[in-house]
Amino acid sequence: MSIACFPEIYPDELVYSVLARFYVRTGYLTYIFCAEELLVNKRVRPDIEFINDLKPEIVHLLCQNISIEQLIEKHTMFPYYARFLSKERRNRAFDALCNMSGDYNNLLGIPKQKNGEQRYLRYCPLCAEYDRSVYGESYWHRKHQLMGVKICPRHNCRLINSSVLICGKVCPDLVSAEQEIKEQNNIVYGNRIEQQLAEYIDNVFMSDVDMENGVEIGKFLYSRMSGTKYVSVRGKQRNIKLFTDDFITYYKDLSEQGLTELWQIQKVLTSYRINTFEVCQLAMFLKISVEDIVSMSLFEKTQEQTFDEKVKRMHNKGIGYNKIARELGVSSRTVRLVGKQNVRAKKNYTVKCGVKPKNWEQIDKETLPLVKEAIKQLQGTKDERPHKVTEYAVCRLLELPDKRLKLLPQCKGEVLKYQESQEQYWAKEIVWAVHKIQKEGEVLNWKKIRVLTNMRKRNLIASLPYLEKIAEPELLELVKSVL
Ligand SMILES: [Zn+2]
Repeated sequence: MSIACFPEIYPDELVYSVLARFYVRTGYLTYIFCAEELLVNKRVRPDIEFINDLKPEIVHLLCQNISIEQLIEKHTMFPYYARFLSKERRNRAFDALCNMSGDYNNLLGIPKQKNGEQRYLRYCPLCAEYDRSVYGESYWHRKHQLMGVKICPRHNCRLINSSVLICGKVCPDLVSAEQEIKEQNNIVYGNRIEQQLAEYIDNVFMSDVDMENGVEIGKFLYSRMSGTKYVSVRGKQRNIKLFTDDFITYYKDLSEQGLTELWQIQKVLTSYRINTFEVCQLAMFLKISVEDIVSMSLFEKTQEQTFDEKVKRMHNKGIGYNKIARELGVSSRTVRLVGKQNVRAKKNYTVKCGVKPKNWEQIDKETLPLVKEAIKQLQGTKDERPHKVTEYAVCRLLELPDKRLKLLPQCKGEVLKYQESQEQYWAKEIVWAVHKIQKEGEVLNWKKIRVLTNMRKRNLIASLPYLEKIAEPELLELVKSVL
């Protein structure tokens, strides 16, 4: 047994990848010896996107710090294929995966590749460089295997095919990323819409899956069309032709990826097509936030109300009635009518008593010291990497619901004190990176800064005015000298 050298799983790493790294570490002469140690049935081909029936001791090693459920959710492609399935199928597939019983393939309904194209494990050359600097080796990331997404959501550059086929009839084997990833000098970036969509899909993919959500995705998307010009004011008619035309124009630079036809769009809106790429494409076009698409809660209100709300919201932002009318594709008379109701409602507004409210003032006071502590932690030190201080980051650290600070004015105020621009934040990251490189006794150059901070040169240049304020003069000169 070579179990002593079983590697720890990296963030976003595929289970396949950690098994492949194990194979390399053990130094087995042939694959089959390694398979014997890992798999219940050594002749089965290792599953690249999901998980095989593994020996209990291997499951134990993989689940030292996480549960099997977390392993499936955070280290297999499960969320990509299952998020928008019906609740029942999603849960059955999840159980099948947790039990490693193998029939998840049918349940997940993985879409076929167009024109019989082969799919290969892919990688991002810049992530690989980053991983090598941080972990000393590269590995296979889940987020580079999102079917339909052709660029790295983090670096926006084209993903590169390895020689490892994801499906198809090939000999069983475990191939580590290190064996496959070569130095890349030719980095090609995706265009703007590709970047936006990749980032959106990645954010959806990385969010927790709500296993209990029973809302059909088509219904949800459709509910979000109300109040737009694609559905008549009273919600009776929809103009799917206009929707499709606008949609296609919006994604014209996406080069024939995802949805391209009216009938396909209709199938998503009726929940027959549920793949994450297409759903996200529609959701981003409809300006649905990632949070909303992930939680998919249906309005329990009528369509009329949601139209009214939209008008109110826009008007409260100071947008004129005529402009609102143009944007929503209705007459300005209709908009004015709704607007007047809004003004009247505001005047009559009184505080209603109902459910006994929580004592938020008290909670606010008690949470404040924790928030201060969290901010300190996020700011980092010379030796610890700084993080941007945001409401979201503080809530994550304190394990509070994302929007909790809205109810806690003192805490929120504290976070706002530390709000900084991206450039200010970059300046802090540079100071940290330079210290780290120097501490490790290495020669400072641009590439090392880039790998550590993930920054582009223009980012560094943009942050120079702030760097001047916070860095010692020698450090500043040093940074300027590598530009
Ligand atoms: Zn990348």
